[in-house]
Amino acid sequence: MNILVINAGSSSLKYQLIEMDKSEVLAKGIVERIGLENTKITQNCEGKPTFELVRDMEDHSEAIADVIKALTSAEYGCISSMNEIDAVGHRVLHAGMHYSASTIITEDVKRVIRDCFDLGPLHNPANLIGIEACEKVIPGIKQVAVFDTAFGQSMDKKAYTYAIPYEYYEKYFIRRYGFHGISHMYVSNRTIQVANLDKDNAKVIVCHLGNGSSISASIGGKCVDTSMGLTPLEGLVMGTRSGDIDPAVVQFIANKENRTVDEVLDILNKKSGVLGISDISSDFRDLTNAAEEGNERARLALDMFIYRAKKYIGSYIAIMGGVDAIVFTAGIGENDKIMRKAIIDGFQFMNIEIDDVKNNIRGEEAIISTDASNTLVMVIPTNEELKIAQETQALM
Ligand code: AMP
Repeated sequence: MNILVINAGSSSLKYQLIEMDKSEVLAKGIVERIGLENTKITQNCEGKPTFELVRDMEDHSEAIADVIKALTSAEYGCISSMNEIDAVGHRVLHAGMHYSASTIITEDVKRVIRDCFDLGPLHNPANLIGIEACEKVIPGIKQVAVFDTAFGQSMDKKAYTYAIPYEYYEKYFIRRYGFHGISHMYVSNRTIQVANLDKDNAKVIVCHLGNGSSISASIGGKCVDTSMGLTPLEGLVMGTRSGDIDPAVVQFIANKENRTVDEVLDILNKKSGVLGISDISSDFRDLTNAAEEGNERARLALDMFIYRAKKYIGSYIAIMGGVDAIVFTAGIGENDKIMRKAIIDGFQFMNIEIDDVKNNIRGEEAIISTDASNTLVMVIPTNEELKIAQETQALM
């Protein structure tokens, strides 16, 4: 079975064609600048030269039509006709409280995605456009929506409710949803498989540390808490996001700097985090280099990142009453052994410890804790596209 995985943004569309028997990526591509001049498709198929096409594409339907041409091209493609695509799996950001699992796309599902435009204003409209474009270009194809918020739906009410007047939850569904859910779902399930843990009771903490970062706690693969909230702004110190702050800071900056609430939120989303503290970069490689050269603010930014991650891990161990595995994933989690070591350092009192030799890896599945460690510490590279394809296949 071949599944086309689509992640549609407002002016871009990332895609992979995955053959499910061997979980093999047959093709991988991106369309950029949709709706602008010089739209560009770049595609790589196993054993074929890189395909590049630059032409103006008015909308996502035109882009998908060209993607199908690229996938079926004799010179650059990997299938001979679009009949070889069995289903399409879409990454969809927000389903509000409507869906706690992936679902076959119907008119009703599209209505829910539309109803959640308020909650995911940047992503949901683009996700829906991607779905409708596929309906037009590949009529009759089965499509599945895999929601980034679905993983967080298993949180208990006491974990997801904000302590603000309850009417706001009732009127506007203001609550914690959590994001990076597809990654947390994939990595927590994969951890259980790789480490052969009890699939119903394993207590797993996943640290998805990238430009956006979040930590989740799950029992038997079901989320009990996760660090992002109504939006991805809550939780850890991130590349450019502040994570947790006292909400009164918003009012303070707005008054002092004569800014609107929207402008301050923009600062908290795009100019804060390790970038805001260091004034150097949001990229951890730049920060590590600067800190090694003695830059104090780069050091402070890294220390704050480590400190906040430790706080979340400690609190999640407390709410679960223990932990079987702590797992690192995404750009920093998969590649940065110094960050992994620094975050786990201090948990020795719980007999949780990293083995420096085993930790000396990048981007591969591995157990990096000492043999004596009570809790496994692991690296599991995330694979959201494969998870979307697996969820799609399961519904076929
Ligand atoms: P992501 O958002 O998952 O792509 O992760 C991006 C982050 O991962 C950036 O802060 C990068 O600096 C970091 N990253 C990627 N590769 C490495 C590496 N080899 N060492 C340290 N950090 C890395």
